[in-house]
Amino acid sequence: MQPLIDQYGRVATDLRVSLTDRCNLRCTYCMPAEGLDWLPTDDQLTDDEVVRLIGIAVGELGVEEIRFTGGEPLVRRGLVDIVRRVRERDADVEMSITTNALGLARTAGALADAGLNRVNVSLDTVRRDSFHEITRRDRLDDVVAGLAAAEAAGLGPVKVNAVLLRGVNDDQAPELLAWCIERGYQLRFIEQMPLDAQHGWSRAEMVTADEILASLSAAFTLSPASEPRGSAPAELFTVDGGPATVGVIASVTRPFCGDCDRVRLTADGQVRNCLFARSESDLRLALRAGATDAELAERWRTAMWGKLPGHGIDDPTFLQPDRPMSAIGG
Ligand code: SAM
Ligand code: SF4
Repeated sequence: MQPLIDQYGRVATDLRVSLTDRCNLRCTYCMPAEGLDWLPTDDQLTDDEVVRLIGIAVGELGVEEIRFTGGEPLVRRGLVDIVRRVRERDADVEMSITTNALGLARTAGALADAGLNRVNVSLDTVRRDSFHEITRRDRLDDVVAGLAAAEAAGLGPVKVNAVLLRGVNDDQAPELLAWCIERGYQLRFIEQMPLDAQHGWSRAEMVTADEILASLSAAFTLSPASEPRGSAPAELFTVDGGPATVGVIASVTRPFCGDCDRVRLTADGQVRNCLFARSESDLRLALRAGATDAELAERWRTAMWGKLPGHGIDDPTFLQPDRPMSAIGG
């Protein structure tokens, strides 16, 4: 086993696999109302190809954790089957999905049976009007049902990811936290990042970790959690003495690139060594040209070696990657 190491000594053990760039919501901070030019079907990895590449990552490159994402991973027809096949190959690998939870009420049981361990659900508000405004769809009830179904199916601890937008839901952090604590969900706020398709992000407009913590502190007593953070992106705080916690993922204002252990595979088979990388390494072409597992593993190692020390968002020369978050896999 030769791991995915980069020239700064970081080792990638956490693989985010995007299963599609399509989505059934249109979150304003992610994509435009009309959607995007979706990947042509032929460019998308087949289920067999996804399972093979994950097998290489786990079997030859030391990957320990797989997170399926997108776009919306639940719209990928083969999702349950992919999970089952990965689980059959490896009993120990940790498998989760990041999802908007539309349709999760129907599939949570099948996903748990297939061997999925956990879900991360994105939910930015528990107010119906704000949900509609942010996602451009009136589907809050489906998300709430999906969360409950995931918990009931044993896909816990259920984590909830939230993005705050100025003037839209930035006054709702305490309300969302209280709602999650009541239901036993672990809430984490994510700072908005320059990864939207419309290039509408602005440093001045984004809600910062300091602001999120100030808003929460007006309603709760937060103390830094005692457990070591390691490579986890979220800074954790206990709420009102615990056991409940809340996390803040401050990718922009408190970057954690030095401890990053992540690597990404896009739905069209490109390895990205960082969300913000401006280049990719094509595994699909090599795979379809008949490359062996060992050759694909070597390409993957080479792609990781070139990972930059940091994302450079604060650098005046920073350029947003060509692909938006939904096409990279968030
Ligand atoms: N559709 C799924 C979902 O929403 O959970 C998975 C893909 S989505 C791109 C993954 C995560 O990225 C979600 O939690 C979403 O809120 C977050 N996200 C999308 N665009 C973002 C942005 N510009 N800045 C920060 N987070 C973003
Ligand atoms: Fe879809 Fe997730 Fe992007 Fe929202 S954040 S539009 S749910 S991919």
